[in-house]
Amino acid sequence: MYAIADFLSAIADVESSVDPITIRRKSRDRYAVSPLLRQQLQGKYADVVVSPKDKAELARVVVAAVRYKIPLTARGGGTANYGQSVPLRGGILLDMTQIAGVVWTKRGAIRALAGTIVGDMDKTARETGQELRMFPTTRATATIAGFIAGGTGGIGSARWGVLRDRGNIAAVEVMTAEEEPRLLELRGTKTLLVHHGYGANCIITEVEMPLTHAEDWRETVVAFPTYMDAVRCGVALGTTPGIVTKLLSVHEWPTPHLIQPLRGIVPEGCSMLSSYVASASAYDFDEVVAEHRGTVVAAAPEGEGAYGIPLYEMAFGHALAQIQKTEPDRTAIEGFFHTDDLVGLVERVHRRLDGVGPLRLELRRWGSRLAGSGSPYVNFESEEQLQRIAEIMQSEGAGVANSHASSVRAVGKKDVTAEDIAFKRLCDPFGLLNPGGFEMDESDDADVGADLPVSNWVARRVG
Ligand SMILES: Cc1cc2nc3c(=O)[nH]c(=O)nc-3n(C[C@H](O)[C@H](O)[C@H](O)COP(=O)(O)OP(=O)(O)OC[C@H]3O[C@@H](n4cnc5c(N)ncnc54)[C@H](O)[C@@H]3O)c2cc1C
Repeated sequence: MYAIADFLSAIADVESSVDPITIRRKSRDRYAVSPLLRQQLQGKYADVVVSPKDKAELARVVVAAVRYKIPLTARGGGTANYGQSVPLRGGILLDMTQIAGVVWTKRGAIRALAGTIVGDMDKTARETGQELRMFPTTRATATIAGFIAGGTGGIGSARWGVLRDRGNIAAVEVMTAEEEPRLLELRGTKTLLVHHGYGANCIITEVEMPLTHAEDWRETVVAFPTYMDAVRCGVALGTTPGIVTKLLSVHEWPTPHLIQPLRGIVPEGCSMLSSYVASASAYDFDEVVAEHRGTVVAAAPEGEGAYGIPLYEMAFGHALAQIQKTEPDRTAIEGFFHTDDLVGLVERVHRRLDGVGPLRLELRRWGSRLAGSGSPYVNFESEEQLQRIAEIMQSEGAGVANSHASSVRAVGKKDVTAEDIAFKRLCDPFGLLNPGGFEMDESDDADVGADLPVSNWVARRVG
């Protein structure tokens, strides 16, 4: 269908592969966490994988793709969980992992090439007594550009908010997909054009992130007699400015049993809060825990917990991945709790969904508020089952994003404004970047994923 042979001779010595195994491996991300995407994205493969080593090689790839009008889908670590890096319309899988390395570090900021692994950036920052404000739980394999284009926030968001909060992405350099590709530098709120853009409106080449001073973290698992005790404690910790935490992840029993490494640590029947607290805040943290009937059942310096894996690999999207190791049919949707009465909203949703599955809540700052995201872990039956859960959550006042779809509009975490459309037209005049991932209007949307009702996921320009 596409002129791949012509494209390959045009890019000459840029590394490429048409080996079917490589193509299949690189055309997948972590969409299999969704039972619906698992069915719908199967068999969607690129025609060729291209791995440029630097921006000059990348520009040659773009020039040839534009000349032969072949789609280009960027891929970093391939940890996206909505299938955002799957080449829906075939063409070129643009492997960005070789364009990697920290460009510079200074007080308060770090700049790195797009394919730099997030954990490597954080390690470099640590050498200067600083750390990233936030990182995804996939930090060991996710790239910084993939985090900006596909992620939301993560460890650190309990203190610093999410990526879209003003000041959390310092700058992004992008390459356009034009006949003569240009490099553009976006700063401030302009970076939000690229954030959650799923690589469908530009190719990120460099990212500059703010840093904070490095903390001495203590990781802590706390058990509670009831789920609402754990929620109240998490909210109290998240709204106490003097207590420094970077994770507040609240799970209802039996999740601590379903996550294998936690078995035997959290007592039978107890709900759980997992957290990283700055060691200087540990005394005050423990006081708040005791006030909420909590018991610290595990505490250790960061990375030294008794469960054998990083504590953050049992939070956010990783919690479901852990559960699926023993219960592959478990799934979830992405509820969003953003209200002045956070405890009240969680309590109502918890009551309405009693018995559906254990609730999860990730507490993090979002704009000027503490907010929560999560839903029950259910045994997947059907799309209608997920729709019903979404509707119940919405009827109580929670927002919902669709974690069983692959395009920006269908997922519902980003508004597609006139400015976004103008930016897409400017950077991608031939519509070659991740086609199906971000279309101009709703009628164009890729037909991949579940049709869940999406609402109130507080979108851009918050805070
Ligand atoms: C178990 C699990 C846990 C997760 N936990 C978190 C979490 O805590 N927080 C969070 O925010 N997310 C989380 N995610 C989602 C995902 O890991 C993050 O979004 C991650 O940062 C993506 O990085 P990546 O390099 O793997 O990107 P990829 O999966 O390779 O790509 C993600 C998106 O970015 C685009 N892209 C990649 N590189 C570029 C580029 N150079 N230019 C333009 N577009 C590009 C791709 O086309 C795709 O649309 C999780 C996913 C899983 C499976």
